Amino acid sequence: MGYPRQPSAHLSAEHDEFRASVRSFVEREIRPNATAWEEAGEVPRELYRKAADAGLLGLRYDPRWGGSGQDFRATVVLCEELAKGDSIGAAVALMAQSEFALSALSDEASEHLKESWLAPAIRGELIGAIGVSEPAAGSDVAAISTKAVRDGDEYVISGQKTFISNGTRADFITLAVRTGGPGAHGISLCVFPTKTAGFEVGRRLDKLGARASDTGELFFDACRIPVSNLIGEEGRGIHYVLSHFAGERLVIAAFSVGVMEHLIELGLAYAGDRHTFGRSLVGFQTWRHRFAEMATRLESTRQLTYHAADLLSRREPTAEIGVSMAKLAAADHVQFVAREVLQLHGGFGQMEDSPIPRYYRDVAGFSIGAGTSEIMREIISRQLTPA
Ligand SMILES: Cc1cc2nc3c(=O)[nH]c(=O)nc-3n(C[C@H](O)[C@H](O)[C@H](O)COP(=O)(O)OP(=O)(O)OC[C@H]3O[C@@H](n4cnc5c(N)ncnc54)[C@H](O)[C@@H]3O)c2cc1C
Repeated sequence: MGYPRQPSAHLSAEHDEFRASVRSFVEREIRPNATAWEEAGEVPRELYRKAADAGLLGLRYDPRWGGSGQDFRATVVLCEELAKGDSIGAAVALMAQSEFALSALSDEASEHLKESWLAPAIRGELIGAIGVSEPAAGSDVAAISTKAVRDGDEYVISGQKTFISNGTRADFITLAVRTGGPGAHGISLCVFPTKTAGFEVGRRLDKLGARASDTGELFFDACRIPVSNLIGEEGRGIHYVLSHFAGERLVIAAFSVGVMEHLIELGLAYAGDRHTFGRSLVGFQTWRHRFAEMATRLESTRQLTYHAADLLSRREPTAEIGVSMAKLAAADHVQFVAREVLQLHGGFGQMEDSPIPRYYRDVAGFSIGAGTSEIMREIISRQLTPA
């Protein structure tokens, strides 16, 4: 008994073909290695090259730099399928590169920066990370304090970042720094090469979930980078960071759709096989109704997510709200489904040789990363009740 997926008006036959190719990548490259990577705490570098060869790292970017020139609908298909590989960590490691680190570079950076960093990252030769969060500034991006002081043709960068996905071995970081005074207008974005003297990776952080994605603490001690590494205009960094958060939020919403579909499929198979009191678990109305509830939450998230992808692709002004609603609903629904499917599996669901407890842990971070659920509510409510 599989999950009866409905055809979607948002997606084309090309998207279906692309889905099949991502699925075969996941079955070949991710699922067989998922447990080993969870234990290692990282994915191998060669995964980026393999993903690049499969055309997965530059979906939305200009073919001039090696991208495929598609829109956010392709990103959604990619993320749904990556999320089904039993390792959200591997999915995060790839998307932290291809969406989080590269999107502002693609939209705002100079030709020189695109040639030096965007194109090799799309080819899977370099690993990228996005560096915004600091120990004292997460949701409140305008409070970051890592400083970049201009000295001739260079910026001298000092400060600290934390929770950075891919941070322990990134070749470059799309880095938010304070080039001006306090508040939102003093922030700029730059490309920071991690070979720069004075840069140090601190602890590799030990996380609840997404364990195959390495997460690092980063330290910058008078690091000098050329002023030409600035992305876009000085002082516009907060605008670039906040506008590109939308892509990150869509990624989490699409991961949630993929996880829910995968967990419901695993749950239906288990509920058909497992017998108690002389009948299969699907023979009990309570479980049939719980599957109905899970499917309804999956389909409502899917519609919000596909709609948000359309809004983002058309650069509609309502895209920020659309994607915030999708992420808010997605995090809530996927955590509900993960809990229900864990409960359905009884004692077997507690065992680490099953992907179920791993998913339960992995989705806990979906209401935190790329903007918390409280911040999603804040963004949505601002539009409803303007100050
Ligand atoms: C696994 C993982 C990977 C990550 N990867 C990256 C990365 O690659 N790059 C990067 O820059 N960051 C990354 N982050 C950081 C992430 O973006 C932040 O954790 C997140 O934005 C929340 O910030 P915070 O942890 O400082 O929490 P805080 O901002 O301190 O929030 C604490 C609590 O208060 C709530 N809160 C905050 N402000 C308000 C408000 N105005 N109203 C109501 N409630 C509020 C929050 O919702 C939360 O529940 C990652 C985080 C995790 C867990």
